[in-house]
Amino acid sequence: MALWATREPGPARGDGVNQEPDRASLEAFSRRSGCLLRWPESFPDSEDFRGNPRRDFGRFLRRTPAFVLRPANLDQLVAAVVMLGASGIPYVTRGSAHSSGGQVLIEGGCVLQTEGLDRIGPLRQDGQGGQEGVIAAEGGVRWLELVRALGAHGHRPRVLTDNLRTTLGGTLAVGGVGDTSLHYGLQVSSVVGLTLVAPTGDVYQLGPTDELFFWVLAGRGQLGIIARVELATMRRPRTLAGQVLVYRSVEAFVEDAIRIRQERLFEFVRATQLWGPRAGVVQVIVGNFADEAGRAPLPKQLRPAYSTPPELGDRVSHALLAPEETWDYHCPCMEVVLPLPQGLGLWQRLCARVAQVGLERRFPLGTAIAVLPTDRRFPLAPFPETDLCLVGAFRPQLPNQAEAERWLPFLRDLGSEALDGGGRIYGPSIGLQRQDFLARQLGPALAGLQRWKRRLDPRGLCNPGFLSSR
Ligand SMILES: Cc1cc2nc3c(=O)[nH]c(=O)nc-3n(C[C@H](O)[C@H](O)[C@H](O)COP(=O)(O)OP(=O)(O)OC[C@H]3O[C@@H](n4cnc5c(N)ncnc54)[C@H](O)[C@@H]3O)c2cc1C
Repeated sequence: MALWATREPGPARGDGVNQEPDRASLEAFSRRSGCLLRWPESFPDSEDFRGNPRRDFGRFLRRTPAFVLRPANLDQLVAAVVMLGASGIPYVTRGSAHSSGGQVLIEGGCVLQTEGLDRIGPLRQDGQGGQEGVIAAEGGVRWLELVRALGAHGHRPRVLTDNLRTTLGGTLAVGGVGDTSLHYGLQVSSVVGLTLVAPTGDVYQLGPTDELFFWVLAGRGQLGIIARVELATMRRPRTLAGQVLVYRSVEAFVEDAIRIRQERLFEFVRATQLWGPRAGVVQVIVGNFADEAGRAPLPKQLRPAYSTPPELGDRVSHALLAPEETWDYHCPCMEVVLPLPQGLGLWQRLCARVAQVGLERRFPLGTAIAVLPTDRRFPLAPFPETDLCLVGAFRPQLPNQAEAERWLPFLRDLGSEALDGGGRIYGPSIGLQRQDFLARQLGPALAGLQRWKRRLDPRGLCNPGFLSSR
């Protein structure tokens, strides 16, 4: 198949693609397979990343793919991957594009958009009284839709990230830090099965007894497309009996987070570190899913500086509020994962640097932080060498391109300092641009990933940026 007509030799474009697609052949492929095809002339001019394959959430990069393919089912996805492989066309897998470092952008290749893989299967209830369950859903399903579907049965996924407008495949490719991660770890830890479409076109049904399963999850889309997953769920009321705890320092919060984990005091924990006059203060929503707020006093082992009484809140309605209406800023994010407890001093130093250069005013909503257990089964997950880690997300809200570019070196430097201090960089972040990035980030797992990559993607076509990233 020759869907990629050779151009005159010339300087390589962003991803080294030196060819133009053969439009007639691609149109024929689209008709034959049913896979939707879009050309750049149909891309919107808008800066809104949601409908624009040239943009991602970070909004400071702009790359124009030669075309977009949108498969609507597994057969179409396999056909697309086989065609791209046979034609030597590089491609990126794009879920909801909430990454901020160009992970889902490509100059001149193909964007493989997963939003058409949106089916959700029935819930299989297990455990005593249906307390636990398993649900199968396709990789392009957004968490919001899964939450709605599960809510009808009184269930929820074990772990939910803050932003439910992302896809299952998108967060599982990076890990997924969420509201109950203090107990259950990353979202990948609650996957019990998955279907992978490898770049060779082979389809793998994988579970926790397969080595490949653990290389795919949190694997940055390097070994193919997560077409379908089976996720553990739990029966929980839709409402949270929650309260706000305020800590004067991140150390005080981390100490209590460890107590909450050890004694299972609260299932839900969501923390934000504040800036400005209250710099260093950590505001935490803690709670248990319940139908009533209850009146139990705060467990006496916990030592916040201040706490509110429990109140009943509806987390699903909260998630339905569309934050994206206000997403009109540029956001080159740097999310770091530090070892605990030894990384606490490093976190303080990073925050002090942010305050010193005046970037703190670009975090009007504070900075999300989380404590969670590491899970050694996932070699590519961004975990330091300790049993617990601290995740901190620097997501500045910047008004324009010039400001984004101005802060890039500083944000990279923060990431670099985290890496030097034994930390790791979380997947949606901007690249660090240092030669030893992959070696430091992945350690011995780099060789393992390269081995799998040679086997499943010998031409390096699938999400080509990561293994050449710095
Ligand atoms: C406002 C905001 C809040 C956020 N809050 C959180 C949070 O609380 N916790 C957290 O963990 N993260 C959070 N994030 C980060 C977000 O979860 C990740 O960026 C996630 O990757 C987004 O999913 P997506 O569908 O948009 O993925 P995309 O950005 O589309 O893709 C992310 C990566 O996954 C790959 N990929 C996408 N789909 C697949 C697939 N089906 N198979 C294989 N690889 C695939 C892509 O190639 C890319 O490398 C937040 C981001 C924003 C913008």
